[in-house]
Amino acid sequence: MAKKTFTLSKSRYIRGLQCHKSLWLFTHDRDLRVVSKSAAASFQQGNEVGECAHNIFPGGTFIDFKGVSFEEQISQTQKALKSAKVIYEATFSYGGVLVKADIMRKVGRSWELYEVKAANEVKDVHRDDAAVQYYVISGSGVKISKTFVTHLNREYVRKGDLDVQALFVSEDVTADVKAKQAGRTAEIEQQQKMLAGKNAPKIDIGPHCAKPYPCDFEKHCWQQIPENSIFDLAGNGVKKWPLYKDGIIKMEDIPLDKLKGQQLQQVQAYLDKKPIVDRTGLKAFLKDIWYPLYYLDFETFLAAIPPYDGLKPYQQIPFQYSLHSQKRAGGKLYHKEFLAKPNCDPRKDLLDSLLDEIPADACVLVYYQTFEKGRLKELAVQFPRKAKQINAIISNVRDLLVPFKGRALYSWEQQGSHSIKKVLPAFVKDMSYEGLEVGDGGEAIEAYQKMCKVADDPQDLAKIRKALLEYCCQDTLAMVRLLEVIRGEVAEK
Ligand code: SF4
Repeated sequence: MAKKTFTLSKSRYIRGLQCHKSLWLFTHDRDLRVVSKSAAASFQQGNEVGECAHNIFPGGTFIDFKGVSFEEQISQTQKALKSAKVIYEATFSYGGVLVKADIMRKVGRSWELYEVKAANEVKDVHRDDAAVQYYVISGSGVKISKTFVTHLNREYVRKGDLDVQALFVSEDVTADVKAKQAGRTAEIEQQQKMLAGKNAPKIDIGPHCAKPYPCDFEKHCWQQIPENSIFDLAGNGVKKWPLYKDGIIKMEDIPLDKLKGQQLQQVQAYLDKKPIVDRTGLKAFLKDIWYPLYYLDFETFLAAIPPYDGLKPYQQIPFQYSLHSQKRAGGKLYHKEFLAKPNCDPRKDLLDSLLDEIPADACVLVYYQTFEKGRLKELAVQFPRKAKQINAIISNVRDLLVPFKGRALYSWEQQGSHSIKKVLPAFVKDMSYEGLEVGDGGEAIEAYQKMCKVADDPQDLAKIRKALLEYCCQDTLAMVRLLEVIRGEVAEK
């Protein structure tokens, strides 16, 4: 009996380029896959950007694919090639690979090919994408004169209606795409042969599990890696993959003479199961904190296509804050919060509320100041009349991450991470993010987007609002408790 031939799509081929095992599992054992929420959101953004990019060359022929067989899509494409000047989602099959071209534009007697990416720059994997498109379309007998990767223009700032011509940049990748044609047929044949196999190819984990994309079979392939492994080593120093190749996987198996600096500190702390406490460093941090003290945390969302004026592609848009405050050390705790209404530009209301709450002379404590200061700076640009007040807040921001990142205080339970999600349960045993309905920034974005979808349903809306308020409040309360821990350590001696 003849062996089954597998038709590859462009995305499957790219998956196979990253790892043959990933392609095999995707084809034969897809239930093992775990799709992250961020990957699902990126996929959605990609579709929206692709559709928007059609307007760069308006009035083209769209090859519909919803509920339409591939054969029909290919046949519609062949018809369009005879009469259309621009085609969206043109479909071709050649050499066992099926592709859909985002945009094709007729120039003279040949066609220009535009591969649209919801990214701010061209990456090598985008060139691979364009190369397989070129391989299939030119192999189908269509002359391609130029190939472009069309991506978002990171310098574009929305003002009024979306200016699609300014939002996108098309980079000519013709030379790269042609250079990548060598070996394409052989790689496709290898992928098809591998897919016909009964078992997944024996491929060990490696740097390819994360590049160019985090692999969605990681949970399956990495299950033999224990907690507290070499992959938890933070910072620069010894390289993990050479250790792995030498059979060293557990943290306790790393020869200490291979380590120095923070890595040595981390492994030592893990072996001793004792925290690192540098009281001098903690005192220096506390010396720079004053009262009244405001603990601030923003939640933001971002969009590839800027939805409001003054925004660039993928610019963060603050929609929520939590603010705890104390008039003196150990004093009564006050709490204020803001959560935007769904489906509106949240920035002005959020800023007005924040400026009403934070006095000019207050110390403002955040966790990872680059983020909160960055949002405040953007608000100052967007609302220049408030810039003086915003800049005063910025100059009073202090960063609670500093003592943890600098290892003035470190617990082995942080597993090398300085994220507040890891630091909090390591030092404050009665608090953690486990069990919260919204448990991290990604889930907060998702919840806010859901809130916009259920805006007309007061019950659902109230439920999501409650979860979001609880999560953001937890972030600033965590800061309050961690500052208490630092004060406690300093006071002990
Ligand atoms: S996790 Fe790594 S080894 Fe496993 S399929 Fe993905 S890329 Fe391949």
